[in-house]
Amino acid sequence: MNAARWWRKARNSRWGRALQRWVGRPPAIPDRLWQRVLERHDFLVARSAHEQAALKTLCEHFLAQKEFTGAQGLVVHDEMALTIAAQACLPWVHWGLPGLDWYAGFVGIVVYPDEAVATRTVADRAGVVHQYQEILAGETLHGGPVMVAWSHVVNASDRAMQGHNVVIHEFAHQIDMRYKGRFEEPNGCPQLPRGYLGLSAWEGVQRWHHDWQGAYQRFVAQVEMAERFGSAPPWLDGYGAQSPAEFFAVACEAYWVNRSAFQTHFPELTQLLDAFFRHPG
Ligand SMILES: [Zn+2]
Repeated sequence: MNAARWWRKARNSRWGRALQRWVGRPPAIPDRLWQRVLERHDFLVARSAHEQAALKTLCEHFLAQKEFTGAQGLVVHDEMALTIAAQACLPWVHWGLPGLDWYAGFVGIVVYPDEAVATRTVADRAGVVHQYQEILAGETLHGGPVMVAWSHVVNASDRAMQGHNVVIHEFAHQIDMRYKGRFEEPNGCPQLPRGYLGLSAWEGVQRWHHDWQGAYQRFVAQVEMAERFGSAPPWLDGYGAQSPAEFFAVACEAYWVNRSAFQTHFPELTQLLDAFFRHPG
């Protein structure tokens, strides 16, 4: 178990416990560490001072609630844990602390040094079982843990231009899974907040399904055209064509690290995500 050391020390100290009990606030992240993490991410540096402060508070609580484990001998040091926290908490920058309830269904975060190879088993229509290997930069399980490859996390700033962010991708799956039953598959429609878009609960879900389904179908067609006939691939990660749940996850990562490009390509989805994540004005 390689939880962030400064935090672990602070949490276990008497003053740390007392502070949490009486003030309800975990110990502050050291400023120099916070600045270093901000500066390594263009999409965080570009945020307003108010948003950065809100993000820092979210990270402090997030680190208090989650447990980091390094896989394959990787030691998760403070800056790594905070880097992951900052990306994972970004979607709730306008919600504030209530946003972290979306991550209350799990505790563990496992960090791999690099992509992991997973062996998958599928049965085809004839009942024949096939095994294949999949290379993963991240994975999420209902109830946790969330797994991410550090080699992808560390380059988050470079990958943002293309709208990629493995941390936000995996945490978007958690958002999708939250409030669903253990055996209910994520479907790209998270539970919508009360009064979403000023609609009734039923109307909100109808609107969400209608717009996402249309965008997903157009996206799948575009990915297929690019693969078969060499036409221009869509800007968004083609992996989103796997399923509506993957489409939601790649949309969320792009929306959060490169909103202007996402808005150009998916104006109707930007409106839905703006309302969901409470984007101001
Ligand atoms: Zn995924």
